[in-house]
Formats: sequence, C-alpha cells, structure tokens
Amino acid sequence: MEYVINHIPIRKGKRPGTKAKMTSITVHNTGNPKSTAMNERNWLVNPENTRAASFHIVVDEKMAVECIPLDEVAYHSGKAEGNTTSIGIEICESGDYKKTEQNAVELIAKMLVERNWGIDRVRTHKSWSGKECPWRILPYWNDFLGRIQKEMDKLLKKKEQDQVSEWARDAWKWVKDKGISDGTRPKDVVTREEVWTMLYRMRG
Ligand SMILES: [Zn+2]
Repeated sequence: MEYVINHIPIRKGKRPGTKAKMTSITVHNTGNPKSTAMNERNWLVNPENTRAASFHIVVDEKMAVECIPLDEVAYHSGKAEGNTTSIGIEICESGDYKKTEQNAVELIAKMLVERNWGIDRVRTHKSWSGKECPWRILPYWNDFLGRIQKEMDKLLKKKEQDQVSEWARDAWKWVKDKGISDGTRPKDVVTREEVWTMLYRMRG
C-alpha cells in the first residue's frame, strides 16, 4: 500500500499545529460509505467544513494519507486527552472494505513495531468518548487486534533476521571493510560457491 504524506495547512478546528507526545493509536471508521482517503483529506481543507474534527491518517483500499504530522494534536477522539496523546487513524468504508481493513492492520502493525509499542497501545474511539466507533470493527475488535499482533510478529521476526548477533559484530565489520561480503542478510545460510568466493576475495 502506498503511504502518502499530504499535510493540511494549520487550520482552526483541524490542525492547531500544537506539538504532542503520542502514546497510543486510536482506530476509527469514517462512517461515510463513499469517501476515499483523498476525499477525506480534502474535506479537511474544504471551507464548508467548519466542524472541529480531524485525524492524522486516513486509509482506503489503495493508500494511506497522512494529513497531520504524527507528533501534532488532531481532533479525533472527542476528548482532550485522546487528541493530545493518540494518533487517530480513519478507516474508509468505500471500495473494497476488506482490503482497506487489511491495509490498516498492516499499517498499524508497522507503526507499533517502529515505535517499540505493544498491541495494548491500540484503542477504539469508543474507549475515549463512548461514541460507537469504529462501528464496523467493534463487533470483532479482539479479532482485529489479533490480526495486528500476527502482522507484528512477522515484522519482528524479519527485524531479528536482519540484525547481526552481538558475538558476530567484529567479524561482520571486518568482512565489510575488507570487501569480502556486503554484510547484508546476516542469518542466511551460504552455499559452497559463496564460501569459495568469500575466501577468494579474502586472498585478494
Ligand atoms: Zn471515530
């Protein structure tokens, strides 16, 4: 899925421009069966839209659009605490909803892993204000969290695969410096011909 950064300008009731230290992710459904992510983004800057309501990221079947920097306040939770401590993600209801929801699952998993956050950081709009949102996901919320966790496990495993073990660090630096190996894919197995080539390069 494409991740587009297309921030709206500072605007009253939408993007106050206030810096915030985020500690959670809040999930929403747009409640609009027709709007795409770009439609939702553009609605934030439409002069007819005077409601104090906004969000950080909106996801549809094709893309995610970041509308407000993730370290700034947005008006999505109905509570000051939620708006100033939580990243609001809107899930569109247009197009292929199943695909859209899967995009959101993958995006949230990636965001959690990047921040070293656990699944406990994901919450519903309802948990802040009592509003029935994300209304489509609430009936199977725990299953939704389980899907995010599964995706996180995959990413964490990959992260581990890409990490050089502590005991191998000196050797890793040495093979790179000597041009024997590029130092990537540290946990992969090597073939005989690859061993020969490394030895050959070492001889110079
Ligand atoms: Zn909501």
